[in-house]
Amino acid sequence: MPHLGNKMSRYKFGLQFKATLENVTDVRPLGDDFRWFLKLKCGNCGEIPDKWQYVTLVESVPLKGGRGSASMVQKCKLCSRENSIDILGDTITPYNAENSETFKTMVQFECRGLEPVDFQPQAGFAAEGAESGTPFPEINLLEKDWTDYDEKISESVGIYEVTHQFIKC
Ligand SMILES: [Zn+2]
Repeated sequence: MPHLGNKMSRYKFGLQFKATLENVTDVRPLGDDFRWFLKLKCGNCGEIPDKWQYVTLVESVPLKGGRGSASMVQKCKLCSRENSIDILGDTITPYNAENSETFKTMVQFECRGLEPVDFQPQAGFAAEGAESGTPFPEINLLEKDWTDYDEKISESVGIYEVTHQFIKC
């Protein structure tokens, strides 16, 4: 029987994105420096720091004991345990017109000792016109709604009622 008593739990969590899309598709985080703003819960003591923390693909911190690396390693302020979270870059998937109004996993995080409990979309998203292909490279979803105008089709475009949920993968 393997002894698992001291092993820190390691899980993958999927961030599922949901929004209503108007005349746009391919909604995605742009670039490796895109900031995923999260609230993270310590799996040991249950502490959830108030402030938003972010992880990016450009940050990489080695894990102790040669266990690879993570996007962020942090010591829990309450119980002092060292937890980590890693963005699984090849799981990043755009949210397309046909996904409108349904939840779809946009990214997965590999977590050791913690779990993501909240997500705040901010700047750094991009999308393109569903029919026109017009690029929209600077989308901020902090207000949960974004709207613009596509000159090529003389129609308004938008991303509305952005919500999310986390699933265990
Ligand atoms: Zn803790």
